[in-house]
Amino acid sequence: MQFLIDFFSTISSSLRTLILASGFVLMWMFESLIPLFRNNTKKVGHTGVNLFFTVTTLIVNFIFAVLLVKASDYTTQHHFGILYLLGLPLWLHAILGFLLLDFIGAYLIHLLEHKVKWMWKFHIIHHTDPHVNATTALRHHPGESAFRAVFAILAVLIAGVPIWLVMIYQTASALLSQFNHANIKLPKGLDAAMQWIIVSPDMHKVHHHYRLPTTDTNYGNIFSIWDRLLGTFVKKDVNQLQYGLDIYPEEDAHSYLPRLLKIPFERYRAPAGSKFGGLPGAKSKGDYLNPEYSDSNLGSS
Ligand SMILES: [Zn+2]
Repeated sequence: MQFLIDFFSTISSSLRTLILASGFVLMWMFESLIPLFRNNTKKVGHTGVNLFFTVTTLIVNFIFAVLLVKASDYTTQHHFGILYLLGLPLWLHAILGFLLLDFIGAYLIHLLEHKVKWMWKFHIIHHTDPHVNATTALRHHPGESAFRAVFAILAVLIAGVPIWLVMIYQTASALLSQFNHANIKLPKGLDAAMQWIIVSPDMHKVHHHYRLPTTDTNYGNIFSIWDRLLGTFVKKDVNQLQYGLDIYPEEDAHSYLPRLLKIPFERYRAPAGSKFGGLPGAKSKGDYLNPEYSDSNLGSS
């Protein structure tokens, strides 16, 4: 434990970037060896767009890191936060701190992003990815990266978490996110067993289905327990899934950078079938789909 504390107390941002890059390379290999969807090709344009947003996410996180470290140091110096109030032994403080960072800093903010209109408009670009793979993990609009960072700081202040634990959580979170977005097919039993504790690749793919109510399920980041406890856990056959969003069938909303950056500032589009608006001229769910955007594009394996 002392080794972990020492290592993560002083971990440099270049080493964390290296870990992130190694995760990408590892997932890239697995995606080639055991792909879930075979025609989920690694197109240069697709990877380029997702890596652009990965870089902007890293930049936003780098800016907020100053506040995150300050918040964490404050809780350590003043024994501020729920976990310090409880006066727990270090190992239990660490486990519960890790869990609370995942609940407040990942599950809760993700749930809000789906329920609060202006937040959703930023989160949309994560969901318009038609080829979900490891590079989708950090495909977040810079605006979304900012309010995720604010929630990470809130989580630290509420729970009371030392900086080494924040670093362990954030490193694990980035790697797990790459893993559950990766276009990989694990043995069914293994994937199902994982879902009892962590968010498996099959479990998270369900969240990327193109229409409600499936999009509003499986919000978890590392642990699946929050979805199970709060009734948002859903199991579906991954071969029946279609990635993307029904309300954004247009190609440039998937892969054209200037459009993706602009989406949060465009008019809100209500979900398919809603009487509150939606795509101009759309009357029924079917109107949201164009012929190029059908199940046949997904393929199965
Ligand atoms: Zn989402």
